Amino acid sequence: MAKLKLRDSDLCWRCHRSKGTLLHMLYDCYLTQNLWKTIIGFVNKVLGTKFVQNPALCTLGIGLKTNNKK
Ligand SMILES: [Zn+2]
Repeated sequence: MAKLKLRDSDLCWRCHRSKGTLLHMLYDCYLTQNLWKTIIGFVNKVLGTKFVQNPALCTLGIGLKTNNKK
């Protein structure tokens, strides 16, 4: 956002601690981590799955296939 001159600072607009890269904004930010933790916990509870929170799963959906299908 700072490179596009849309913001004055390149820091994350949520936490103002780290550089606001795409990965930080979508996953790494500690404020976003709480959201992902809640979502993964909810999905595991409802679907009975054992997904582990990681950036590939949360941002790209990699690892969503389960072996429950026949
Ligand atoms: Zn942040």
